[in-house]
Amino acid sequence: VTVDLHAHYPMHLLDAVPPGPVGKFRLSLSWLQRLVMTIANAFFNFPKPTDPAVTVDHLLNSPVRVVLSMLYCPFDEIDFSQKYGAPPQPHYFDDLKDQMCTVEKDLEWQQFTHPNKLRLARNPAELNDGLANNELVFIHAIEGGFHIGTTNTATIQSHVAELADLGVAYITIAHLFVRKLATNAPALPFLDDNIYRLIFPESGGITQAGRDLIEAMINEGILIDVSHMSDAALTDTLDLLDDVDPTFTVPVMATHTGVRTGAYHEYNISDANIQRIANRAGVIGLIFCEHWMATGGPKPATLNDSLSIILDHVQHIHDVTGSHDYTAFGSDLDGFIKPTLPGLDYPSAFTTVQNALSSAYTPTIAENICSGNSLRVLQWWRGHVGTSSTHLACGA
Ligand SMILES: [Zn+2]
Repeated sequence: VTVDLHAHYPMHLLDAVPPGPVGKFRLSLSWLQRLVMTIANAFFNFPKPTDPAVTVDHLLNSPVRVVLSMLYCPFDEIDFSQKYGAPPQPHYFDDLKDQMCTVEKDLEWQQFTHPNKLRLARNPAELNDGLANNELVFIHAIEGGFHIGTTNTATIQSHVAELADLGVAYITIAHLFVRKLATNAPALPFLDDNIYRLIFPESGGITQAGRDLIEAMINEGILIDVSHMSDAALTDTLDLLDDVDPTFTVPVMATHTGVRTGAYHEYNISDANIQRIANRAGVIGLIFCEHWMATGGPKPATLNDSLSIILDHVQHIHDVTGSHDYTAFGSDLDGFIKPTLPGLDYPSAFTTVQNALSSAYTPTIAENICSGNSLRVLQWWRGHVGTSSTHLACGA
């Protein structure tokens, strides 16, 4: 069993209007936005133009049984109606729920084609049930705190409570461009860190709204993903956690990243922060993106090169923490990570990854890295309380 902490399932749902019992549904995008995404996906995202990586069929044909499915609205993050660095706008929160609804409708439809093979889990109990039935379990997560749609404390709190009840497991607070919550590490793989810093200036770590968001997430049982944060924001976040949670009961995750094994990228987690994540019994999910992972040597050309790069990062986390209990995977497949590490374009590649870990270490360590460590952290997630359905009213 593999847990993929970070994969972009909705990327291929642009035109998902299947006939049948769940009714029509479609993402609320303009025709131009739909066209832009279709072209971007075909040329810069999917492994093959018409064959996305993160589909139910590919996932069922892989060892992945838990996928944290990223909700992400690119046209809200790259919002040309706003100045650079503007605060999040209210309609982002509606767009987020629209996308969530599209995913839920699609999964409902998938359940007709693949009966008893998959489910959406809204809390750890449903996750554990799905695993016990050997189902493919989808869990909502959000990439970019800007989706919260506000910097107002009370509105942040009510939106976070709503998202918790809808079953959101984690929020990646920072992302590609600063939006008055937390500063981010340069994460456009085609731009050098220093050039990014020149074009997209930012200063400080987390803002008051960022603090409000993190505190609300802790109160509502939504996990904190520190991927994409600048070193300053990551330090602020971990300091805030130490203040509000001095007994270290709240875990923290970096779901899709590398560590600093070779050439410096701020995006990759520093040794000091690896240790601080481990101190909270958190987890670091390794990404399949060549740019962040292949920093120590020549460009990888083969699957074996990719596996040895992954083992370097796994070993580095062990060197820092003395343990393999804090390492996991968040592939970021279909999240514009091309070039992907060679041979790791589809979820089925997790089989070879797990085998490589088994031979390098032990089958038990491989199992923990591929699933056990992530499942441990996910048990902290609160999610939807009770058993009633919380389907969003959508698709009408
Ligand atoms: Zn990301």
